[in-house]
Formats: sequence, structure tokens, C-alpha cells
Amino acid sequence: MALDVSRREIVQYPDPVLRTVARPVDVIDDAVRAVAARMIELMHDADGAGLAAPQVGLSWRMFVTRASEDHTDRVHVNPDLVDLGGDMDVRPEGCLSLPGITLDIRRPTNAVLTCLDLDGRSITLTATDLEARVWQHELDHINGVLIIDKMTPMDRIANRRLLKELEVAAGRGP
Ligand SMILES: [Zn+2]
Repeated sequence: MALDVSRREIVQYPDPVLRTVARPVDVIDDAVRAVAARMIELMHDADGAGLAAPQVGLSWRMFVTRASEDHTDRVHVNPDLVDLGGDMDVRPEGCLSLPGITLDIRRPTNAVLTCLDLDGRSITLTATDLEARVWQHELDHINGVLIIDKMTPMDRIANRRLLKELEVAAGRGP
């Protein structure tokens, strides 16, 4: 499959690719590196802290972030959260695939992530607070999980109209 990388844009809810459990990246080649570069570009354009491959329409286990203290762009291929700990913390989260929606989400503050970098090297990273939260958000994405799955009944009521508008905009609503 030829990937026209430069034309990839952020896909929005309710695109079914966002609900698919993504498959591992078998080979890290130039196509994968080009997609990662485009994802970093889109993340910057949208002023986001992270972006997962399903959000550009690719069901791959890969995400990019710029959530560390030095705001470095990072690419995480075949990531796995091997440990979560610390305190539980509630913070507002948005999602580039759910424009206009912000929800208070409860997550552990500390995380350990294993993944491959773009050279295929296995790395283990630790993070706290924002970066740990972004990893959890993006890992949810590659498992087909969205922040709206964590809504309280009150959140559901407050965001019903916005969600409906996104569904109608995608031509899937009534
Ligand atoms: Zn998201």
C-alpha cells in the first residue's frame, strides 16, 4: 500500500479506525519514519502533547509525544506500559480527535513505558505527571479507547450535543 504521507490529516470521532485495536509495527522502515515525521508535524500544528497513529488513519501501534519537561519530540513504536503507580490524579484532558471536548480523567501519576525507537532499539522510559498521562492517553488510542469511554453520567449529559455534532458532521448521525 502506498502511503501518501504528506496528505495525512487528523481523523475525528466517530471514525472507526479510532475504535480498532492497532497491530504492532513489524518493520521500522522509511515509510514508518515518514509517517512519524508527519505525525509530529500534525501534533505541532494542532498544539497537541501527543498523537497516536490511529488518529492519522493508520491502525499501527505507534505514537508521538512532546510532553517531557524539555518538550522534545519523541516517537514510540510498539509501546507497552509495563508499570503504573504513584497517586491517582484527576486532570482535564482533551483529544485532537474530539475537538471541543475536555473531560476530567483520573489516572496514575507515574508510568514506565517500553517501546522501540525509530532505529529499532528497545528502550525503557519513566515519567511522571503530564508525560505519564499522555502515554496513558495515547496507549488507550492504540487499543481503540477514547476519553469519552471514561465519561461520568454528568459528562455524558454535558457533552451530548458536541458528540452528536461530530457524528452528524461525519455523516453517521440521523
Ligand atoms: Zn486523543
